[in-house]
Amino acid sequence: MNLNAPRILVLNAGYEPLGLTTIRRGVVLVQNETADAVTLSQHFLRTPSRRVPVPSVIRLRRMIRRPLGRLSLNRRNVLRRDLFTCQYCGLKSSSLTVDHVVPKSRGGRDSWENLVAACHSCNTRKGDRTPEEAGMPLRRRPAAPGYLAWITFELREVPEEWLPFLPVRGGSRIYAD
Ligand SMILES: [Zn+2]
Repeated sequence: MNLNAPRILVLNAGYEPLGLTTIRRGVVLVQNETADAVTLSQHFLRTPSRRVPVPSVIRLRRMIRRPLGRLSLNRRNVLRRDLFTCQYCGLKSSSLTVDHVVPKSRGGRDSWENLVAACHSCNTRKGDRTPEEAGMPLRRRPAAPGYLAWITFELREVPEEWLPFLPVRGGSRIYAD
């Protein structure tokens, strides 16, 4: 068990998800009574004198005000948003490039709306053209990930006991807003 892995879901006092914390920090928050364990994992931390249960979900005792989590715009997060799928041909791969929908040379900017995952061959084929010019329609319109996306991005699998606390809208956690 990696104590520094972000494996504990942190809820605000009103039960809305705030983010993830490490096992080490989550246990400390419960021990110093900043937070209560809402559900426990199956793990224990061993100290010389006792076994400390490791929570899976904790809730802060006091409501905090915090801006909603934001994902930084970078290659890795664009690929994650697009589920490592080329947005032109649908190829799934771990070695995709990031394509500017409107090419940079044509004033296309670095933004969630203008960056998509693309395989090497689609990227090369599209070249300096827009999808319309290239006749290569996008499979979905790129958009900024919802504020909860970063929770699911951090983990390959979301533990089942977290699901009641993670709103799912439109059947997709990734694009929920
Ligand atoms: Zn492709």
